[in-house]
Amino acid sequence: MFHKILIANRGEIALRIVRACKEMDIETVVVHSTADANGMAVRMADESVCIGPTPSRQSYLNIPAILTAAALTNADAIHPGIGFLSENEEFCRMVEEHGFTFIGPTPDHIAKMGDKAVAKDTMRALGLPLIPGSPGIVKNAEEGLKIAKDCGFPVLIKAVAGGGGKGMKIARSEEELKSAFSMASTEAKAAFGNGDVYIEKYLSHPRHIEIQVIGDTHGNAVHLGERDCSIQRSHQKVIEECPSPALSPEQRNYIGELAAECVRKMEYRGVGTMEFLFEDGKFYFLEMNTRLQVEHPITEMITGIDLVHEQIMVAAGHPLAFKQQDIRFSGHAVECRLNAEHPETFVPSPGKITRYHAPGCPGVRVDSALYDGYTVPPSYDSLVGKLIVHAKTREDALMRMERALSECIIEGIHTNIPLHLRILQEPEFRAGQYNIHWLEKLLNKHKEASKKVAS
Ligand code: ADP
Repeated sequence: MFHKILIANRGEIALRIVRACKEMDIETVVVHSTADANGMAVRMADESVCIGPTPSRQSYLNIPAILTAAALTNADAIHPGIGFLSENEEFCRMVEEHGFTFIGPTPDHIAKMGDKAVAKDTMRALGLPLIPGSPGIVKNAEEGLKIAKDCGFPVLIKAVAGGGGKGMKIARSEEELKSAFSMASTEAKAAFGNGDVYIEKYLSHPRHIEIQVIGDTHGNAVHLGERDCSIQRSHQKVIEECPSPALSPEQRNYIGELAAECVRKMEYRGVGTMEFLFEDGKFYFLEMNTRLQVEHPITEMITGIDLVHEQIMVAAGHPLAFKQQDIRFSGHAVECRLNAEHPETFVPSPGKITRYHAPGCPGVRVDSALYDGYTVPPSYDSLVGKLIVHAKTREDALMRMERALSECIIEGIHTNIPLHLRILQEPEFRAGQYNIHWLEKLLNKHKEASKKVAS
């Protein structure tokens, strides 16, 4: 087992990993930028190393600085967390070349799944159903037009290097295709340094269903059920729940088994998530994330399995401690992402926390690095925490979430808690009847209503 793990991340996820390490009696080093010197993970870790100034490029993305910190502190493994370098093939390769263990998959798996066109090819060959669209990269708008006509408008133009909903544009007609194509490509080039795009049919009412998987280096792989992440704004997840209210037990087994089978065939090691769109009873493969996922706690709640613990165990070469038939799903879990942003305008709201009180009692979990007097820096992601609840039934879990949200006090900055409370009151959400476009439609309806009141 590892003696010391360096955590190359920040915020709540760095803290989540520190906590798992403490329970495994593994020492921790948290690296940080100057802006994060007072971060909770830095305070809780055994050691910390400042690796650069505020901009991520000079700190959290600074590979030589991270490797130097690992060497200086005698760490034997590096956990990349989520975002930053977690899906960076070069980083993974360099970590291993310098004699550390990368807590994640191999560089080849990262490379294969990081290029979405290659990922789709791989998954097609393994038998996963895909969204109709281009077989690979689309070179220009003319080629795009041919493909769009074949699969029918509207279509979605997507970046092969995409992530976080960036480099994604809808084209509803021939006229729109040309400008959407160049906008997607330009945005992708700016965000990822790679302007290559591909095209998919734009589904009108799908749900986002993803399967948690884990594989070890001994040829074992299992799935840990699905998460429904259809409550989204700007292609970004806002609320996640499991099990999905939309799946039958047969559909759940079918897609779970298929995902686990793919992981086995790929000889994938570590945790991963296979994302699908689900429409009219059919699954379509979207992408595979080769890392821990923000919403992993809801899976932990219904399976009782600590995913970070297992991730570290398989990285250390241990076989999985459970087989598929050992995994039991119990009750219902929901996660609300807590963002430092205005609940109506969504403008980021960094600043000093003047009062903080976290909710509690059975079935309530708060994954957050916030504390009284902490200053949320303006330079990073607006996610400042996650509120997770677990209960016997979906209705009980939603009641519990409402109670926990209304108990949660975060003063000094704006958060999206009021938005979560509004969503929870919607009868359609309560009934589990929503798809990936539902929240945007609800927000538009509210906007129209407040415009009318104003005039
Ligand atoms: P990213 O890697 O940028 O997050 P994904 O491919 O995972 O991109 O898609 C993110 C979200 O965008 C999905 O959860 C879904 O809401 C929406 N989306 C992606 N592809 C389609 C599609 N073909 N039709 C409709 N919505 C889509």
